[in-house]
Amino acid sequence: MTGTIRDLLIQEMQDLYDAEKQLVKALPKMVKAASNEELSEAFGSHLEQTKGQVERLERAFEALDVKPKNKACAAMKGLINEAKEEIESNQKGPLGDSAMICAAQKVEHYEIAGYGTLKAWAEELGLDDVAALLRETLDEEKEANTKLTAIAGKVLADSSREESQESLEEARSHR
Ligand code: ZN
Ligand code: FE
Ligand code: FE
Ligand code: FE
Repeated sequence: MTGTIRDLLIQEMQDLYDAEKQLVKALPKMVKAASNEELSEAFGSHLEQTKGQVERLERAFEALDVKPKNKACAAMKGLINEAKEEIESNQKGPLGDSAMICAAQKVEHYEIAGYGTLKAWAEELGLDDVAALLRETLDEEKEANTKLTAIAGKVLADSSREESQESLEEARSHR
């Protein structure tokens, strides 16, 4: 390819800009679909953070003297489609929540990969203001992922409690 790392940085920022905007649309569905209150709240607060991340990317474009532009992120479209399938095919409760957490963590990891790489490029190019903006979002994505891991543990404990309750009842009914 032709161009420079700076061009590549801008292209990848355009990809993340589109990805974040897709998430602003998708996250309200996750807020509604989550049964666990803590999970629903986590999706809600990440929705607000995500809106801020869109603005942060706009500031980074500005710092680079380019207009914010979308480059359709096919990967995020796919990840969101998978999340939608999980919501539609799983029942409410711990099982559905676990499936949604799985989908959401795939999203966070995609974002962590993107922002981590772009932050390193911006640092290498001496674009300190851009690097700082990307780092702020990177930290939020990592935090969101850690929070999901913690909630996943609780949801899983709930689901195994439910399952052992069910098998207990099963066993009793066969007595
Ligand atoms: Zn993307
Ligand atoms: Fe994000
Ligand atoms: Fe992408
Ligand atoms: Fe995120």
